[in-house]
Amino acid sequence: MKKIPYKIYLTEEQIPTKWYNLRADMKEKPAPMLNPQTGKPASLNDLYPVFCEELAKQELDDNTAYIDIPEEIREFYKIYRPSPLIRAYNLEKALDTPAKIYYKFEGNNTSGSHKLNSAVAQAYYAKKQGLKGVTTETGAGQWGTALSEACAYYNLDVIVYMVKCSYEQKPFRRAIIETFDGKVYPSPSNTTNAGRKILEKKPNTTGSLGCAISEAVEKAVTTEGYRYVLGSVLNQVLLHQSVIGLESKKAMEMIDEYPDIIIGCAGGGSNLGGLIAPFMKDKLTGAANPRIIAVEPASCPSLTRGKFAYDFCDTGKITPLAKMYTLGSEFLPSANHAGGLRYHGMSPVLSKLYHDGYMEAVSVEQTKVFEAAVLFAKHETILPAPESAHAIRTAIDEAIKLKESGEEKTILFGLTGTGYFDMIAYDSYLNKTMTDYIPTDEDLKKGFDLLPNINM
Ligand SMILES: *Cc1c(COP(=O)(O)O)cnc(C)c1O
Repeated sequence: MKKIPYKIYLTEEQIPTKWYNLRADMKEKPAPMLNPQTGKPASLNDLYPVFCEELAKQELDDNTAYIDIPEEIREFYKIYRPSPLIRAYNLEKALDTPAKIYYKFEGNNTSGSHKLNSAVAQAYYAKKQGLKGVTTETGAGQWGTALSEACAYYNLDVIVYMVKCSYEQKPFRRAIIETFDGKVYPSPSNTTNAGRKILEKKPNTTGSLGCAISEAVEKAVTTEGYRYVLGSVLNQVLLHQSVIGLESKKAMEMIDEYPDIIIGCAGGGSNLGGLIAPFMKDKLTGAANPRIIAVEPASCPSLTRGKFAYDFCDTGKITPLAKMYTLGSEFLPSANHAGGLRYHGMSPVLSKLYHDGYMEAVSVEQTKVFEAAVLFAKHETILPAPESAHAIRTAIDEAIKLKESGEEKTILFGLTGTGYFDMIAYDSYLNKTMTDYIPTDEDLKKGFDLLPNINM
């Protein structure tokens, strides 16, 4: 039998021509977003002041299974896609496992992550609508980088609210955003009411994603010709990220493989939602039954310990309400948390699938995550982002279980990006100052107590 190569590449022509919208095959749809003022499902007219028109339509479209990828976007995709599917022969050998391990590597572009897949689409639609610019937030910095790259290409202005602790810890991320002409503010800032309010209450706060979202939304709706864009959580983002899964499935078909276990890290759920999309379709339609595992940090455990409830997507409580697994919009992971994936909620699509039993979720502690990252780097020669290393951790754990049971199963996991801007975190792991913190039930209760009271 011919040995499967290390890297399975598609051709440029094989880049998908349509995104796949998983919601179309869900018999029970995710609960609708609600307008916070009226408590009624958000309509297109509610969304237009905030989002670009085409993106608002994609957000609310639960029924169109395949949506054309405009040729201009495919042309941009061709600059850095298709991304490789890689057989982790060396990791398999190191683990002495009978499992076959594949990973889809999305870190091969300047943003260093899968986020560019959606940034390109969002910038394109904003430009097509004739807008002047977009605003957004960024946590670890990958989304801000991806968006500024995409906006530079389409000649669109971009204002990025960067969570203050990242702004201070990752000056080089900020410099990349500025290289692409993005304007960056540390959040909370004094450029918005939401930011000023938080600074008044907590002058020493290091910021949060929820707060940065509030600022970015406010800036967008109060600036002529601007809209707000978001790099995760939303249905439209999962839609764009389906290129990851569609390419993975096609590449696996070329080598006669199909994954028994699919693993992805989950912050807001966009890479996982994209990776699993075509495989979840098989599961929903009964064509196949792979196990699907979401991996989250033990310090920010929205799926494994959160509540499935309507909540705000931001701290300022100005965004529509989404029904999702959430820790409460004011939840902040403890300060020692280094590994990204710090959002309080989760994609409503994934939340619904998890609630209905189509997916599993596990949480892992950060020292274990970095242990996996270092092992992976040595054997596969890619320095993974801490976020991605959550998926690596669980892939390794599953591969070790398969060694014990002697089963030759196939694992596919998403390697979402590279970790060059996370060396402070790597350093603290290597010099053993990194600690783990798992919130107590008491800690979590504070977040749950502030959930809006909506029974739907
Ligand atoms: C943003 C990011 C994530 C988490 O976001 P999701 O929307 O959950 O995919 C994971 N990995 C990397 C490298 C990221 O930049």
